[in-house]
Amino acid sequence: MKLLEDRIKKDGQVLGAEVLKVDNFLNHQIDPDLMTALGQEFYQQFADAKITKILTVESSGIAPALATGMAFHVPVVFARKHKSLTLKDDLYTAEVYSFTKKTSNQIAIAQKFLQADDTVLIIDDFLANGQAVEGLIDIIGQANATLAGVGIVIEKSFQKGRKLLDERQIKTVSLARIKAFVDGQIEFEEED
Ligand code: 5GP
Repeated sequence: MKLLEDRIKKDGQVLGAEVLKVDNFLNHQIDPDLMTALGQEFYQQFADAKITKILTVESSGIAPALATGMAFHVPVVFARKHKSLTLKDDLYTAEVYSFTKKTSNQIAIAQKFLQADDTVLIIDDFLANGQAVEGLIDIIGQANATLAGVGIVIEKSFQKGRKLLDERQIKTVSLARIKAFVDGQIEFEEED
């Protein structure tokens, strides 16, 4: 998606060999017009899939997930990473190793928010090694719900997440696909 690639080129900062900082429009300050455009694009790509729910992980997935839920007019559920006093219901949980924090976290959602008749679209901000998405897929499986696909804002195609999802034949739509960071510069995959 050209709009997104242009914004990444303008505002993205490459940190080391593998990390992109996009706190100007996605991970700290959020650009609502850009989020709306991303949500519309995910809607176009999954319009035929009869989506009933959007699923993401707090906190960075929430903005693009909400924009997508607004395009589909379906609820948005975010898995929580932190134990909460109010989260006392029966839970679905999964263990997720965090790429950026290098620690393992449990993610959890209340069982009442995911049903066997749900068709779910997973949305996340980044796809790196695929751990966050795998955790969400695990939870969808526990609920016996149906996975329609995965929508990613920024995929780093040189890490193993995309390959894992392709091997499982999961429809994955990434709006920007980064091939490599070369000398601090961002190289994108050619668009199809
Ligand atoms: P994965 O689980 O695919 O290894 O990593 C995905 C999660 O790690 C995303 O939800 C995102 O929060 C975080 N992440 C992975 N790579 C990056 C990155 O390059 N920049 C930022 N800001 N977050 C990242």
